Amino acid sequence: MTHSDELFQRAQAHIPGGVNSPVRAFKGVGGKPVFFARGEGPYLYDVDGNRYIDYVSSWGPLVVGHTHPEVVAAVQEAAAQGLGFGAPTAIEIEMAETVCRLVPSMDLVRMVSSGTEATMSAIRLARGFTGRDKILKFEGCYHGHADSLLVKAGSGALTLGVPTSPGIPLALAEHTLTVSYNNLDAVQEAFAHFGGQIAAVIVEPVAGNMNCIPPAPGFLEGLRSICNEYGSVLIFDEVMTGFRVALGGAQEFYNVTPDLTTLGKVIGGGLPVGAFGGRREIMEMISPLGPVYQAGTLSGNPVAMTAGLTTLKLIQTPEFYQRLSQQTQKLVKGLLERAHDAGVPMAANQVGGMFGLFFTEEEEVTNYYQATNCNLDRFKLFFHGMLGQGIYLAPSAFEASFVSSAHGDEQIEATLQAAEQVLTEL
Ligand code: PMP
Repeated sequence: MTHSDELFQRAQAHIPGGVNSPVRAFKGVGGKPVFFARGEGPYLYDVDGNRYIDYVSSWGPLVVGHTHPEVVAAVQEAAAQGLGFGAPTAIEIEMAETVCRLVPSMDLVRMVSSGTEATMSAIRLARGFTGRDKILKFEGCYHGHADSLLVKAGSGALTLGVPTSPGIPLALAEHTLTVSYNNLDAVQEAFAHFGGQIAAVIVEPVAGNMNCIPPAPGFLEGLRSICNEYGSVLIFDEVMTGFRVALGGAQEFYNVTPDLTTLGKVIGGGLPVGAFGGRREIMEMISPLGPVYQAGTLSGNPVAMTAGLTTLKLIQTPEFYQRLSQQTQKLVKGLLERAHDAGVPMAANQVGGMFGLFFTEEEEVTNYYQATNCNLDRFKLFFHGMLGQGIYLAPSAFEASFVSSAHGDEQIEATLQAAEQVLTEL
């Protein structure tokens, strides 16, 4: 029995399923999760001493790799000054100034401690601002686990939403409309029926929770104009795409301006941070300026702000995103070539430092239906094959993967060599 296996067994005695977030349990791929001891640059080391090239990056935050020396030093220094005060600190201003400069659609920004809090708060704000109850989201997009957002489409084209989890009142889920990603006609239809009642459209501008699916040309622009027409708030959930696909996020990459933006992951540099912000007129509705309530004991925590801000400094070097994107492209292109040579049908999507592989005969994957119809058994074999070769991919076929600036040619080449062997044996 490995040390990882022992820990997993022990963990299950007092932690539900042995994990503090479900996807970590390897349910999607079978087998037992690996327990990690430390990370360094592009590498993870497990408790048994095995080394892996990491493409999970803590699910996105580690865009400069594990334990970047500047981030670690800054965090140590901040921690020595105090772990938190629950009162204003100067670094919160610096964080807000940085975020609003890098993401110009954000006039005001409020810090929170997770992506879930960011989207939950943005939805409440949009409802408070418009005085409307309904929201529209997209099938396969994940926005954290707030009640209004854990909702899937009802059966039939234009039915109201149904909860994806017990514990969510139907009366609440009914206010969430769900339509297919990249389908503007469905959005139009929903607005034709419910337009005056829809407070907000929330979208992952590149979907990263059904593997990786970019917006079709015109999709985000279409959402912008429909929201303008009906007076609904357009929320880009950039928890994953923010500081990941471009310095200014997907809104810069695709040149479409939302009313509100939610951020998470990279903004915390690996520590628990989220944020939401946007147009001044809307954000001024938040307490203490306005009547929409929102708060947090640990919000703007100085140690977390330091990890995030130091990371945000590192990514502002010229050509950071050009290189990140090039490295990711090199990896994806190499993987497609090797799959082709091995006779394994595969498609891939990539935007900036995020990518996704699909075991499918389709040339392009553009929505949830296609993503869920890929060959999952083949994915599982591929995942475990790669794990055995020291490559740590997301343990689910429905998660995007991430490249960091610490991934150099050496790691990309090693990954491609491993993939060549694994794909040939599939
Ligand atoms: N929105 C998106 C787009 C996400 O990818 C995630 C997490 N994967 C969330 C929101 C929720 O963030 P958190 O897990 O920090 O609550």
